[in-house]
Parts: sequence; C-alpha cells; structure tokens
Amino acid sequence: MYSNPLVPWHEIETVLLDMDGTLLDLHFDSYFWLELIPQKIAAKNGQSVAEAKAFMDLELARVAGTLQWYCLDYWQDLLGLDIMSAKREIQHLIQMRPDTIPFLDALRDSGKEVVLVTNAHRDGLSLKVELTALDNHITRLISTHDYGVTKESQDLWEALYKDIHFDPQATLFVDDSVPILHAAKTFGIKHLLCVENPDSKQPNRGITEFPSIIDYRNEVPFITRENG
Ligand SMILES: [Mg+2]
Repeated sequence: MYSNPLVPWHEIETVLLDMDGTLLDLHFDSYFWLELIPQKIAAKNGQSVAEAKAFMDLELARVAGTLQWYCLDYWQDLLGLDIMSAKREIQHLIQMRPDTIPFLDALRDSGKEVVLVTNAHRDGLSLKVELTALDNHITRLISTHDYGVTKESQDLWEALYKDIHFDPQATLFVDDSVPILHAAKTFGIKHLLCVENPDSKQPNRGITEFPSIIDYRNEVPFITRENG
C-alpha cells in the first residue's frame, strides 16, 4: 500500500479508461497476434512459424497507430483467416486484471463519470464484454471505430470532447500505450496514468514518461476516502 495516491482524486470528475492492457490482461492479445495467428499463417501457407512471425511483425509495424492495426476486417482480408473464430479458440485467456473490479466499483460508487474508450474493433469488444461482463461495471463503452479514427489521432479527442463534454482539467485518462498517452496530453487532458504491467506474463516495463500503476487497489482507499 502506498501512502500517497498516484492521482489527485478530488480533482477528477471524468475517468476515461482503455480496455486491453489497462482493464483486461494484455496476454490474450499478445498471444493471439504474436503466437496463434503466426501459427495459423504458417499452417495455411506451408511456412515455418518463424517466417510467419517475421511476416506479422512487418505487417503490424506497417499499420501501427492506424485504425487498420485494430481492425479485424482488415486482418481477415489480408490473411484470409477467420479472426473471430480464432479468438474464440483461446477465449479462456480473456481475463480481467485482478485489481480491475475493485477499482471500477470504487469509481462507480464515487459518482465520477467513467467511460471506456478503446481502439478495439466492435466485434472484439463484444467478445470481451460477453466473457468478462465488463458492462456490469462501466455503463458507457466507446469503440473508436465508430469515429473512424484512433486514440493516437487528435481528431478522435476532438470528436470525443464534443460527444461527452469532459473537462480536460478534471479528467483522468488511463492507458497502457505511451504514444496514446502523449496524444491525450497534446489534446490537453491533465491527468494521465500509464500501466506498468499490462501483460501478466511480462515483467514490469519501467515507465518513466508518465505516472504508472501496478495495482489499482492501491488507489481505492483514496477514491473511497474522497467519497466518504
Ligand atoms: Mg491498451
């Protein structure tokens, strides 16, 4: 337990939350794109898994930060694979972080506005909501695909600002992507929090550019205290 919170909760009215790597364990997505999909490409094309991994690395880098990177239809067309049925094969890996529900429930009880803002495709979002019941804890779930731009883009933040009318000075945004946090900072969101351990199978990352969280449960007493 820390003696001080990472966030000045009394200043926060709106909390914008990423999904993958922030509320859910990124291990599912890492394993899916970097292991399972290369295995399927290799089997389909008669390549080695190493060749298929090198191909995926190149293709992922080509569209990094764009809507395509997150777009399941794009990958389905490019790879000729049924992406959603492949996800279902390993759906048991879709897991909440152990600290997510206490955090979300403390936020809900505090009366702050909580909105999920994910770059995940609607189909991927639906599967994760189905398996985690995330929508029992957050009422508003936004996929940036509905805006046609990602969180890396200032256009997204401008569109979101018009839609949900948050005060950037009283808003906290939590994401595991450093480039996305920089985009939010450029837009003017005052309170930014990174995730030190988005993937349960990887070591902590040593984030230095933003305050970063290891366990949301450390913040819960501070959120609750402000509430009481
Ligand atoms: Mg993320």
